[in-house]
Amino acid sequence: MSQHKICLLPGDGIGAEVIDCAVRVIGTLADHDGPRFVFDTQPAGHGTFLETGHSLPNTTLEAAKAADAVLLGAMDVAEIPPHGGDPLGGLRIGLEVSASIRPSLTIPGVASPAGDIDCVIVREVTEGLYARDEYMGDDDSAYAVRVITRGASTKAARMAFEEARKRQQRSGKPGLVTAVHKVGVLKLSDGLFLEACADVARDYPDIPYETRNVDACAMELVRDPGAFDVILATNVFGDILSDVAAGMAAGLGLAASACIGERWAYFEPVHGTAPDIAGKGIANPCATILTAAMMLRYLGEDASADTVEAAVYRVLADGEVRTGDLGGTASSAQMTDAILAAMRR
Ligand code: ATP
Repeated sequence: MSQHKICLLPGDGIGAEVIDCAVRVIGTLADHDGPRFVFDTQPAGHGTFLETGHSLPNTTLEAAKAADAVLLGAMDVAEIPPHGGDPLGGLRIGLEVSASIRPSLTIPGVASPAGDIDCVIVREVTEGLYARDEYMGDDDSAYAVRVITRGASTKAARMAFEEARKRQQRSGKPGLVTAVHKVGVLKLSDGLFLEACADVARDYPDIPYETRNVDACAMELVRDPGAFDVILATNVFGDILSDVAAGMAAGLGLAASACIGERWAYFEPVHGTAPDIAGKGIANPCATILTAAMMLRYLGEDASADTVEAAVYRVLADGEVRTGDLGGTASSAQMTDAILAAMRR
């Protein structure tokens, strides 16, 4: 029986609540001929900054590097002042991950504003307008630098084409990578991004490739979400489009994501700390449980990932046990109990 060491970063707000639910689910996989896990819970986030003066202690980063994978809940980065560090940025740089993968899928039994959506957004996560390079000018003005490098763009593009190839092999569909930009305005930065994407596209002649303006892409995503397969975007465009896609599919309570590098990887739900419902025990744990399933695939535990995903989809399709965001009254624990019961069925 295989065993994996998982570093848990519960973080802030509902982070600890949803991580507990995911740990309960994957912790039972050994009873289903799946792997065993050793969990190492580490501090990070706003609460950690308040306690220790830094939001990502070195010991946490070292523990993350020593684990086979990292599972993160949510972090309240907005409340952390610059001298407290940037826990997500620090983790991305420390673990050398440069892009995130965020699937959006309509789930049977869950109402969605879209007809059919089954796409993945690959988002560069270390630079762009979120590079945190801001300064004040003399004339009551403020500036933010948009950093685009060929290196980070190439890594994100390669991840997008690899993801398209995997999806092509799994579904038999032709596959498509859509690179998103605003090159008419951002001629140099998006010019470089598109150049890097086109270079990578040449290595994948079997995968169709197109480019779209970000505004046109946002409109098409709402009008005809089925037109997309893999959307490849710089940091801010990808951040916004992945929330649009999550909303078009089944909502933030079900949206999972993975940040995979060459040596390390971390996994986190798309939602944030949800301060309005934190501490009430009512957060939808499914996004984190589906995120844990993505982690299982990364660890080579495909059968266990299938078991977990099938159980979540069965509970959602049954419709009897649902958290408030999906129109139900179940607590996070009750939703998790239902998923565990579905795994035993
Ligand atoms: P942050 O600044 O940490 O991103 P936020 O409140 O701006 O926090 P989210 O945490 O993503 O953004 O929350 C947006 C909305 O979605 C909130 O109303 C929140 O309650 C809801 N929400 C987010 N995640 C969940 C979840 N897992 N279950 C139920 N509702 C959720």
